[in-house]
Amino acid sequence: MSTLFPALSAPSAKTALCFGETSLSYAELAGVAGALAAELTPGRRVAVWATPTMETSVAVVAALLAGAPVVPLNPKTGERELAHILGDSRPALVLAGQDAELPSALAQLPRRGIDVAPPPHTVPLPEEADDEAPAVIVYTSGTTGPPKGTVLPRRALVCTLDALRDAWEWTEDDVLVHGLPLFHVHGLILGVLGPLRRGGTLHHLGRFSADAVRRGLEGEGTMLFGVPTMYHRLAEEVGGDAGLAKALANARLLVSGSAALPVHDHERIAAATGQRIVERYGMTETLMNTSVRADGERRPGTVGLPLDGVELRLVDEDGHTVEVRDGETVGEIQVRGRNLFTEYLNRPDATAEAFDGGWFRTGDMATRDPDGYVRIVGRKATDIIKSGGYKIGAGEIENALLEHPGVAEAAVTGESDDDLGERIVAWIVPAAGAERPGEQELADHVARQLTPHKRPRVVRFRETLPRNDMGKLMKRALHE
Ligand code: ATP
Ligand code: MG
Repeated sequence: MSTLFPALSAPSAKTALCFGETSLSYAELAGVAGALAAELTPGRRVAVWATPTMETSVAVVAALLAGAPVVPLNPKTGERELAHILGDSRPALVLAGQDAELPSALAQLPRRGIDVAPPPHTVPLPEEADDEAPAVIVYTSGTTGPPKGTVLPRRALVCTLDALRDAWEWTEDDVLVHGLPLFHVHGLILGVLGPLRRGGTLHHLGRFSADAVRRGLEGEGTMLFGVPTMYHRLAEEVGGDAGLAKALANARLLVSGSAALPVHDHERIAAATGQRIVERYGMTETLMNTSVRADGERRPGTVGLPLDGVELRLVDEDGHTVEVRDGETVGEIQVRGRNLFTEYLNRPDATAEAFDGGWFRTGDMATRDPDGYVRIVGRKATDIIKSGGYKIGAGEIENALLEHPGVAEAAVTGESDDDLGERIVAWIVPAAGAERPGEQELADHVARQLTPHKRPRVVRFRETLPRNDMGKLMKRALHE
C-alpha cells in the first residue's frame, strides 16, 4: 500500500509539529520518526504512553512507519485497567517520553525513550505495511464492561482521513490547534494523523484552556477540534472576551465531536463570533461516520450527512430498515464501509455480536431530516426513556434544560416507575451566580419548550456531573 504520510517521503522545511517553543519540520520528523521506526519490528505491538505532547505524535508516526501496531495508553488509567489492557494486548515494549514516570504495571516491559531531537543522519523510511495490517489498537472507554481493544487497520485510517479532507476542504495550508487527549481516535487519528497525512501543521496545546485556544488561533491556527465540554467553556467565556471572540471568528473551521454538542452552546458561540461549529459523529470502531460539510448548512443539533465511503441506515426494533426522512422516526444507526475496524482483540464473541451481516450496530439512535441530515437522539442503552407509552430521547430534554438561565449542566435519565414504566429524571448543575431554579419551574420550562409528557418528574441538583476524560457524561455513574 502507498504511504500514510506522503509529506514524509518528500521532506521539506515546513513545520509538521509544534508545541510551545519546540517544532519539527517534515524533514526533521522524517529523521526522528525514521530512526525510531528502524528499531521497531513490523507486526510487533508497541504501547505508547500517550501524554499530550509532541513525543506521543512522534512515537505513533514511527510505529506506523514501521508497521508496528500502536496501543495508546491513557496515562491516567488506573492500575487494574492498565493491567487488563497490557495482558490483553501484550505489547513488546513501551515508548514513553524521557521524563515520564511509568506505573509499576509497565515495569516488566522494555522501555524506549522518545527523543524529539532530529538525529545527525537520516535513515531511509521503511516500506509501509499493507492495507489490512493492524495500525492502531484503541481501547474503548469501558462504559459497558471491560474496555475492548478495537483493531483499526491502515485502510480505515486512510478512508476516514481522506473523507474528512473532502468534507472539510482540509489542505496542507491548515494548522490544527489541538488540545485533546491522544489516546482516543478523536485526538490521535483525526488530531495527529490528520494534519500529518495532509502535509499540514499540528500545533499541540498540551492541555486545553480557552486562553491557549485563543493564542493558537491568533497565531497560525486555522482549525480547532474539540469535544462539547471544551466548546461549553468557550461559550461561557466568549461573551466577555473580545480577543477570544475574534480568534474564533477568524478560524476557518471549528469542529466538535465525541458527544452531542448542546444547541445552546452552538448558538452562543455563533452569536458571539458569527462562526457556526461543524459537528461530526464517529466512534472508536467506525472512525468517522457523518459530518456537516464545510460548505454545507451548519444546522445545530445535527451531525450532517454520511461521509464518502460510509453507508448508513436506520433500523427499527424488528431489524427492518427505516427509510423515512421525517425528522421523527427513530432507528438505530448501522454503518458499513472501509472506515470500520477489523475486530475486538481476543473477543470474537463481542465482534460477532456487534455486526448485523456486514453492518456494524452502533448502539446510537437517530432520526433523519428530509435532506438526509442525521440527528442523534442518544444511546440505545442509556438515552432512550420509555415513559407513559412514549419513547423519549434524553438529549432533546437536556438541550431544553440547558437553555434555562439557571442551568449550567444537565443530564437526563430514566428511573423505573410503577405508573409510567420509567419516569424522567433531570440531574442539574445550577449556574453560578444565577438564582437556583425550582423543580416545578424547570419541569414547566421543558413542557413549554417541548411537550408536556417530556417534563422531568424528578429534579436532582448536583455540584458536578460524572464525566470521563473526553468530557462525556457517564450516566451509569449517576445512579450509583
Ligand atoms: P464504550 O464503547 O466503551 O461504552 P464510548 O462509546 O463512549 O465507550 P467512543 O467510541 O469513544 O466510546 O465513543 C463513541 C460514541 O460517542 C458514539 O457511539 C456516540 O454515542 C457518541 N458520539 C460521538 N460523536 C457524537 C456526536 N457528534 N453526537 C452525539 N454523540 C456522539
Ligand atoms: Mg461505544
